[in-house]
Parts: sequence; C-alpha cells; structure tokens
Amino acid sequence: MNKEELESGALQNEKEKQQLEEEEQVVNPWEVSAKEGGKIDYDKLIEKFGCQRLNQSLIDRVEHLTSRRAHVFLRRGVFFAHRDFNDILDAYERGEKFYLYTGRGPSSEALHLGHLIPFMFTQYLQEAFKVPLVIQLTDDEKFLWKNLTVEESRRLARENAKDIIACGFDIRRTFIFSDFDYVGGAFYRNMIEISKRVTCNQIVGIFGFVGEDHIGKYSFPPVQAAPSFPSSFPHLFSGKDNLRCLIPCAIDQDPYFRMTRDVAPRIGHHKPALIESLFFPALQGETGKMSASDPNSAIYVTDSEKDIKNKINRYAFSGGQDSIEKHRQLGANLEVDIPIKYLGFFLEDDAELEHIKKEYGAGRMLTGEVKQRLIEVLTKLVERHRRARAAVTDEMVDAFMAVRPLPNMFN
Ligand code: ATP
Ligand code: MG
Repeated sequence: MNKEELESGALQNEKEKQQLEEEEQVVNPWEVSAKEGGKIDYDKLIEKFGCQRLNQSLIDRVEHLTSRRAHVFLRRGVFFAHRDFNDILDAYERGEKFYLYTGRGPSSEALHLGHLIPFMFTQYLQEAFKVPLVIQLTDDEKFLWKNLTVEESRRLARENAKDIIACGFDIRRTFIFSDFDYVGGAFYRNMIEISKRVTCNQIVGIFGFVGEDHIGKYSFPPVQAAPSFPSSFPHLFSGKDNLRCLIPCAIDQDPYFRMTRDVAPRIGHHKPALIESLFFPALQGETGKMSASDPNSAIYVTDSEKDIKNKINRYAFSGGQDSIEKHRQLGANLEVDIPIKYLGFFLEDDAELEHIKKEYGAGRMLTGEVKQRLIEVLTKLVERHRRARAAVTDEMVDAFMAVRPLPNMFN
C-alpha cells in the first residue's frame, strides 16, 4: 500500500469512527438522546462514566441505618448508580453526619415531573438521615446558556424556589441560594482554588466546549463544584471542614462531579459522593427524557386534571396491541409501555403495581384501564404539589434563602 492509500484508509477509519459516534447515545448536562430508535442504555453509561451500580446490599443498609423502608425510588431502581455512597454510609454508621447538596437551573417558569424526581428523593434523604441540605439555584448558568436576561433568571430562580420548598424541605436544615446573590467570600475562594486546578483541555474533554463558545461557559463548572465543599458555607459548617457531602442528582450531572472529585483531594477535601437517577422518560417513550424543550413530552406541575388526562391518553406511548382481540391474545409489551414506567415511579403500592403488570402483560387489562389509573395517580400528585406551592409565601422564600446558621440541622 502506498502512502496515499494508507492515508485514505486512515481517513476512512476516522470517518467510520465518527459515524459510529454519531449513532451513539448522547448524555450530557444539556442533551439526552438514545441511539436511533433505541432506549437509553444505562449499563453503558455506568461503564462510560465510571460510576457504580447501586446494589441491593446498599439499599438494605440504608433501611437498617434509617430504621425505615427505603424510598420507592430506591426500591424500584430509579436511583440506580453512585460514587462512594458506601463511604457515606460507613461514616454515618460510625456516628459521623454528612450534608446533602442538590440544585436546579431555573430555566422555566414551571417544573415538570422529571425535575421533581431529585427533589422528592432529596427530601426523603434529609428526613431519613436528619442532615442539612444546600440547594443551589444556578441562575448564572441559565443566563449563560439560555436567552434570558440576568433579571429574568433571578426571577425564575425565586419562582422555582417555591416549587422546591413545596416538596417539603425542613427549614431548620435547608439553605437555598441563588448564585447571583450568594457567590462571593469563602464560596468564591473555593471556586478559584478549583479553577486553578482544571485545565482548558480537561474542560473541553469533559464538557465538549468549542473555541467559539464564550468564556462564561468555561468558567461555570467551578461554580457548580464549589458547594461540594463544606468550607463554601461558613455560616453553616464553620470548623467542620471534614464533613462529607452527598449529591443526589440525575446522571447527566455526573461530568461536573467527575471534575470536582478529581480536584477535591488536591485542595484538601473529601471527594463528594453521588447518588444518581435515571431520566424520567418522555411521554413518547424511553428514547428521550421528559424535557421542557418539547412541551408534548412533558407533564408540568401546573397542568390541570384535564391536561394530564389529554396528554396521557393522546401521547403516552403504549405497549398494548392495536386491537382488543390481539391484546387479549398477546398481552401488552411492558418493556416499552410508558404508563407502566410512570406507575413504576409514582405508584407506591408494590402489590398493586405487580397486579397491574401481571394483568396488563397477560392481556386481561387494557391500555385504557392502565392509563386511567395513571391519570388518577398523577392528578393526585400534581394536585398535592399545587396546594403545597400555593401555601409558599415570599416570606418563606426569604427565610429559606437567608444566610443564617442552622443550629438544629443535625438533630
Ligand atoms: P430544556 O429542555 O429546556 O433543556 P429540561 O427539561 O431539560 O429543559 P433543564 O432545566 O435543562 O430541563 O434540566 C435541568 C436538570 O434537571 C437536568 O440536567 C437533569 O439533571 C434534570 N432533569 C431534567 N429533566 C429530567 C428528567 N426527565 N428526568 C430526570 N431528571 C431530569
Ligand atoms: Mg435541559
């Protein structure tokens, strides 16, 4: 083979590689999509990111340590992956506490059900382990990435804070902050410590930024990293630099914390631990996540009973057969059925869920009946959220966001 042929062969390989990559699933903080026509492959994701699967023995330990039944999101594998969660449990067993850190990028007025998942779960963790929690509202991030003014991002942060508070967080143990308002002082010092230890090449490798991206994007990751360190919150954790941090989030946030964990020991901190969830799927199926960018994919906490009913009946992808006759004969394909998936997240009664799966899978129950049950479950959830949110006043938002000590946060 001459040089030219060699080169064209190499080019061909490069092209094939690119094509292969294009067909791969994409999961990053800004985009989630499965391979053409497929579902998100979570095993692959665990392997690619290098996190661990959350196994039954860890769930048993949680039950034992908290003396209560594990949350349905643990029992059903919604939170399915982790990094060093076992270390958190070991420390807790020795009598050491930890703190929780989660957040939200306030990009939309209303939250959808997918956004609620980490907050519902974090609320359970806070209550079960009796530990403090910091919630970061990345209004700066949304200003940088979306077409929003600074003022609009700040307004959305406060609106979203109401939805977050409505999830039932304990004010004696919870500090909610907006980046635009809180970043400075000790928090900023940590950001700068982190920034000095991450190169441009690393950021490009982790997040895929390109030369045309503005530098705001490049400088944002340390903002999301800093809350992983207790010294970023001197009003809460002064003198507790050894306190461990546990981050509940959807798995698309993992890249931020891979970066953070790489830096942590180099600046004298524990690596933050993570507990990571699947995506709440789009109404159309598990090829994508429920997303605000596609209104038909999502059920919002502001949707009326009628909206919910229409969306489920019209859009929720069904694994049932096209004719009743065929359905009675073959049963539903539960693997692709969205109503069954959604019930798996939100129907708490294990026995009822099993019953529905059995009857529907055998064709004795019809899609319409399963959808009807899902509509009831979701309407109840959304109604409850709406009532709780209506009770959140501006004074309460101020109180949760006040920079203050929390003297009873570990009790
Ligand atoms: P957009 O479509 O405008 O990007 P979105 O619905 O993806 O909106 P974001 O505000 O980008 O919402 O979501 C922020 C984070 O919330 C995500 O990075 C992810 O961690 C979490 N999240 C969003 N949608 C889901 C979902 N369906 N399931 C689980 N987590 C989700
Ligand atoms: Mg998004």
